Amino acid sequence: MKLLEGKVALITGASRGIGRSIAQVFAEQGANVAFTYLSSVEKGEALEKELSTAGTKIKGYRSDASDYAAAELLVESVVHDFGKIDILINNAGITRDTLLMRMSEEQWDDVLRINLKSVFNLTKASIKPMMRAKSGSIINITSVVGLTGNAGQANYSASKAGILGFTKSVAKELGSRNIRSNAIAPGFIETEMTGELNEEQLKEWMKGIPLKKPGQGTDIANACVFLASDMSSYITGQVLVVDGGMVM
Ligand code: NAP
Repeated sequence: MKLLEGKVALITGASRGIGRSIAQVFAEQGANVAFTYLSSVEKGEALEKELSTAGTKIKGYRSDASDYAAAELLVESVVHDFGKIDILINNAGITRDTLLMRMSEEQWDDVLRINLKSVFNLTKASIKPMMRAKSGSIINITSVVGLTGNAGQANYSASKAGILGFTKSVAKELGSRNIRSNAIAPGFIETEMTGELNEEQLKEWMKGIPLKKPGQGTDIANACVFLASDMSSYITGQVLVVDGGMVM
């Protein structure tokens, strides 16, 4: 049985990494997938072609998640093209790591705008069609460092902790409309984002992971399938940590 048959999902930042895995697994599970990218235009277009063979409707949109007006326009286009939005996955994100002592205002602003404001932008726009449909599942990709903090990531950790407060507030505001809002906190997942870490940093991360291996994009995608599907219809306001046991 396909768990997302007939559902329409909008996924931000799916040209690479975790977002790409989510789009692939969602298409395999029968979802119609609208996804976004920004700078990786070729990769975004290639993904649209690749997934179109799965038999569901797939469309990529070049759209900056941190731009409020662009997010509104995107949601209008997706509703026009797909008819509805059942699932929103706020996945787009960046890092600009450095110690606070050296952190510039620009590094702070970029991370907060792209990681946190984007979640506001897309959620604000998407709840309109969800409220009309009296149904929806919003999944925000946060991080274990939003729970624990991390040296060298004050901007990133703050953005991810902000997502948690937002997720729970939306769950409280929109539960009566049958719109669920949950977060997934990945630990160490092998993508280009973590590819920037050096050998020493990698060893340090591995020491703290009971399952002794990095996670894959599909590990996060599978958790998204659960929170997007009707199997989790009584779950809202929660944070699902997917990290090989790193944070307990
Ligand atoms: P990644 O490989 O660097 O991919 C980031 C994705 O976000 C790309 O598709 C990129 O698209 C997109 N993106 C960036 N800025 C955007 C914008 N303004 N508008 C639209 N799309 C934008 O990162 P990842 O590792 O897959 O991370 C995905 C999410 O998981 C992020 O929120 C990250 O914070 C979170 N996370 C990752 C890990 C990990 O270990 N990897 C752990 C915890 C949490 P373009 O290239 O097309 O611009």
